[in-house]
Amino acid sequence: MEVFEIALVAWALLFLGDFLSTFIYHIPEHVFGRLHLTTHHSPRKTFRYYAILIPDFWVLMDGLLGALPYFAVSTLLWPYSPTGVIVGLLLGQFHVWWRHVSALGWQTPQPIDLICQVLWITTPERHWLHHRNTHVGYGDIFTFFEQPAILWLRWLRFLRIHLRVQLKRFWQLADLKK
Ligand SMILES: [Zn+2]
Ligand SMILES: [Zn+2]
Repeated sequence: MEVFEIALVAWALLFLGDFLSTFIYHIPEHVFGRLHLTTHHSPRKTFRYYAILIPDFWVLMDGLLGALPYFAVSTLLWPYSPTGVIVGLLLGQFHVWWRHVSALGWQTPQPIDLICQVLWITTPERHWLHHRNTHVGYGDIFTFFEQPAILWLRWLRFLRIHLRVQLKRFWQLADLKK
């Protein structure tokens, strides 16, 4: 049963890591920040730039913040199966490289595309859509995060507008009191 345990822990790591990374970092960054947008979504960059951490502080920062949830989940799952954690991290890293091969002109063969559809795994083509349009293609690894991600994105955008209005009111009031 050890193989089953390793597979389960590896899958849990990728599932929880992608969930936390998407909802705590990726989407809030798209709404409130600029770091991920300017580093990861800048057009016409090379495969190396998107998939391998280049020695640029901001690119490293974006990569690190996106990976942090995976490391946090790793420490939680470590007691259950260290091998499962290592397999999960390796698969996660492999997927980072693979989902950016569109920059190298790759086209996913149809049988692989079909397997990914059945397993809800993000293909390079799907991730490339996200690079070009930040409204779609969420869930770096799993496609089933797409719908809740879009809801979260809309809600945070609404919150941003609301916060701006409140902040404006606050400053207007502060001005009046002077
Ligand atoms: Zn990407
Ligand atoms: Zn993004």
